[in-house]
Amino acid sequence: MNIILLGPPGAGKGTQAKILVEERGMIQLSTGDMLREAKESDTEMGRRVAEVMARGELVTDEIVIGLIEEKLTGDNGGGLIFDGFPRTLAQADALGELLEKKGAALDAVIEMRVDDEALVARVSGRFTCGNCGAVYHDETRPTKVAGVCDVCGSHDLKRRADDNAESLKQRLMEYYKKTSPLLGYYYCKGNLTGVDGLSDIPVVAAQVKEVLDNL
Ligand code: AMP
Repeated sequence: MNIILLGPPGAGKGTQAKILVEERGMIQLSTGDMLREAKESDTEMGRRVAEVMARGELVTDEIVIGLIEEKLTGDNGGGLIFDGFPRTLAQADALGELLEKKGAALDAVIEMRVDDEALVARVSGRFTCGNCGAVYHDETRPTKVAGVCDVCGSHDLKRRADDNAESLKQRLMEYYKKTSPLLGYYYCKGNLTGVDGLSDIPVVAAQVKEVLDNL
């Protein structure tokens, strides 16, 4: 089963993807994570990507489609979760072609609905564990012991460079201009379903489960 989690920054795509990885053995393909990794490399591409991401703009279609294409070779196990990809109509078309070439289908596109004010609050308090990827929030989901990950005990807790008010505004603008047209695109293809991304994490997870169980 291959699915897309679609929604603005902070909608909870990564959190829900991690739950699906644990519960269903699916594979999370997050272009944001891939780009953050590329950014660390001491290359011209890494430096360009870092600048674009810091401004909250989208990286070129060519780069992200290339990253996804590399991951689509071979056996994709329990199914793929596209998290943060596609973000433009050109990326959506490319994904359709890549899946078709593999003889694979897109089974569902889940829109995580949230409102902008809630996003700003969520994103500005967010931090993650650099070791295991667990996601926390200053107010709504703090660690039990300050500075220590509840899951793996690591002290490597980090905030993303682009989780600040300025970048977030730009990221939201990019979402509404370039990514939200995908809702109409997938609605017309017949595979769009919405869940209430503002509910608590387990409630959203239950809604996602219901969508997948009904496929
Ligand atoms: P994310 O972790 O999904 O919020 O992505 C962080 C940043 O990576 C975005 O603000 C973009 O700069 C870049 N990015 C991630 N995925 C894509 C994509 N599919 N297309 C273009 N840029 C992307």
